[in-house]
Amino acid sequence: MQNIDNYDFRGKRAIVRVDFNVPLSDSFQITDDTRIRAAIPTLKKVLASGGSLIIMSHLGRPKGPSGKYSLKHIIPAIEEKLGREVKFAPDCMGREVARLSATLQPGEVLLLENLRFYAEEEGKPRDLAEDAPEDIKKAAKSEMKERQKKFTLKLASYADCYINDAFGTAHRSHASTALIAKYFPRDKMFGYVMEGEIKAIDKVLKSPVHPVTAILGGAKISTKIAIIEKLFDVVDNMIIGGGMAYTFVKAGGGKIGSSLCEEDQLELAGSILEKAKAKNVRLYYSGDVVIADAFNNEANSKVCPIDNIPEGWMGLDASDSMISEWEKVIRQSKTILWNGPVGVFELEKFAAGTRKIASLLAEVTSGGVFTLVGGGDSVAAVTQMGFAGKVSYVSTGGGAMLEYLEGIELPGIRAIRE
Ligand code: AMP
Repeated sequence: MQNIDNYDFRGKRAIVRVDFNVPLSDSFQITDDTRIRAAIPTLKKVLASGGSLIIMSHLGRPKGPSGKYSLKHIIPAIEEKLGREVKFAPDCMGREVARLSATLQPGEVLLLENLRFYAEEEGKPRDLAEDAPEDIKKAAKSEMKERQKKFTLKLASYADCYINDAFGTAHRSHASTALIAKYFPRDKMFGYVMEGEIKAIDKVLKSPVHPVTAILGGAKISTKIAIIEKLFDVVDNMIIGGGMAYTFVKAGGGKIGSSLCEEDQLELAGSILEKAKAKNVRLYYSGDVVIADAFNNEANSKVCPIDNIPEGWMGLDASDSMISEWEKVIRQSKTILWNGPVGVFELEKFAAGTRKIASLLAEVTSGGVFTLVGGGDSVAAVTQMGFAGKVSYVSTGGGAMLEYLEGIELPGIRAIRE
């Protein structure tokens, strides 16, 4: 398999799928450029090795061409970070792109317009009524498949080699993230972001140094059941915090007041507790929590056992004593995975637990522990709190990381490897 370090880019046009789906303000200012910064080493490598670049990405969820979702808004940011001019193709299809890519010289950069201006990128028919007859739906899908093939082939025709560096969409089998790879059987590879993400997650899943601890938080257990079960094969300890914990507490017979609870997951939560025992995984979710009488910064709050919360009160953060218990586990671990905040960190009043976890992980990382943080909200938390550069790895792909952790082979990874 080629990789970006041993491939000969001289005189070649590389089409690179990046994840430039960055948040923009109402005046189209980038409010978080992490994803652009992450892709720069891959882009610079191609240019430094004598190649030229055709950059492609999606931005947002447009239903068709739309100025709001145009990638033109981010050209200055890419130019500034690459230190050179970026040409812009105001469409990702058509003669003009073909001409621009055909005349691209080594060292030049061409950015294609948002791939999702075309339904073909995702391969799902748009504007199909939900109650349309089944045979119409079927026909629309098969017609879309044909159109997607043409779209993919067209993208492939612009370049000599393909690099996938968009981990954030690696769990989707889209034209630019997976399907295009087959047109480059000997000239396809991962970029550094993809390589880094895969290496970091494999370091936890496949070759971890024990003891291994997972810290799982966030709102719902329903979205994380599969990961919890998969992680039982890997971890020695599992800390369960955030809104998720209360469903487990209730399943064990505790009183949780009006804390978040997924009633339809109670039975499953109970069976997970049993499985943990069978797999010899130590679970940590009991102790004291910070409870409040309303979901805001002005609420009254106090500390109370997680399984004896009065009616009308809800658990919104881990208490200091709970964090101290977890701290002992964290300090004994050699590998730590953190997904999901352990409290409602968006409200300053209930952010202390999450902040303490972030700072503890930063501290143990400097002592040689491997710490991987992933999943939308915990990444936002470590970034906001200033610890992003102080843990071993911050995953940029929320959904993709979660699916990888579940043990699913991601289409974007398979397409490069097969
Ligand atoms: P998720 O997307 O499942 O990782 O959930 C992240 C969200 O969980 C964040 O918005 C947190 O505010 C929220 N969260 C964390 N702890 C709690 C809690 N005890 N009660 C309600 N929501 C929580």
